[in-house]
Amino acid sequence: MRRIYLDYAATTPVRPEVLGAMLPFFSEDFGNPSSAHWYGAGPRAAVARARGEVATALGCDEDEIVFTAGGTESDNLAVKGCVRAAAGGRKHVVTSAIEHKAVLESCRALAAEGVELTVLPVDGFGRVSPDALRGALRPHTVLVSIMQANNEVGTLQDLPALASVCRDAGVPLHTDAVQAFGKVPTGVTDPGVTYLSISAHKFYGPKGAGALFVRRGAPLAPVIHGGGHERSRRAGTENVSGLVGLGVAARLAMADLEAEGRRLDALRKCLWEGLSAAIPDVRLNGHPIWRLPHVASVSIAGIGGVSMIQALEAEGMAVSSGSACMSESPVPSHVLAAMGIDGALAAGTVRFSLGRHTTPDQIDRVVGALPGIVERLRRVH
Ligand code: PLP
Repeated sequence: MRRIYLDYAATTPVRPEVLGAMLPFFSEDFGNPSSAHWYGAGPRAAVARARGEVATALGCDEDEIVFTAGGTESDNLAVKGCVRAAAGGRKHVVTSAIEHKAVLESCRALAAEGVELTVLPVDGFGRVSPDALRGALRPHTVLVSIMQANNEVGTLQDLPALASVCRDAGVPLHTDAVQAFGKVPTGVTDPGVTYLSISAHKFYGPKGAGALFVRRGAPLAPVIHGGGHERSRRAGTENVSGLVGLGVAARLAMADLEAEGRRLDALRKCLWEGLSAAIPDVRLNGHPIWRLPHVASVSIAGIGGVSMIQALEAEGMAVSSGSACMSESPVPSHVLAAMGIDGALAAGTVRFSLGRHTTPDQIDRVVGALPGIVERLRRVH
């Protein structure tokens, strides 16, 4: 059976060009970038090159990039690092109800330390209202963290409007662009964005490598203490091969952005049109226009998401019930709940996420297989 991978929002395969660039740094050019002798020189230059590539991809300066071990760490560093560095005794943070757990749990950890927390609601499409954000700000608000694109439903926020609210109030904004980067324009040219997280394995780079953009002069206390790496903002010997992979993957992602975005958008529309025409009582979650090109979260009434995923797996199709971190757990999605989607319908949700190796033929196979599976599952549900 030819397998079909439709879970690119969970992770992506490393591109051959990326792997090729990484390989020399495992054994051949294995030195520690901090070493003063010549073994350190090649890896040091490679990390510097990667920093340049990531900075170019994001539209910032190299000293505004802090390398991390992925999206979770970038989010932790932005949220905890900003709040802990902020002056004053009383501190308030604003986030949204649909953030990834890396942001939500970081905020909750700060709340347990006495930081005041506001979790903004979203509308039925998963968007935060800029007016609600303005209304939530207080004189002692030290950070707003709102993601650019949601990982479960693909909704894009109105980042320029949210950033402008933050800029007017003089409050730093962190945005988790882990799903957005490489799929839609994700720059830091908007001066209202102070911190931005990315993760290599979401755009055909290796797992365990990421970056946080930190606007020059923005507060940031380290979360990982140790040596003076990353200009004393993140200690630890650099993951040289991983960072090389991150840099190359970022460069390639930017080169492909428009053409691949258009291709994926067309495939996703085909998928949804096929499914909605053949299956009664289905809905596409998220915003109809403001969305990532490659994610389709589909709620199907009268079935369980897990049995759906198992049935698709039996047909050779790998999809997700929501975010990868939750797929083993029966806990209902906090994202769908925040969007007001009824629990029973939310339980029948499948996330299809498309990528570089997705073909029209694969979409046709999914559209061909799904109606029969749904009919069968509805009979036994
Ligand atoms: N933020 C978002 C929106 C994500 O989708 C993910 C991963 O699923 C993360 C953060 C965490 O990134 P990582 O897997 O690199 O830790």
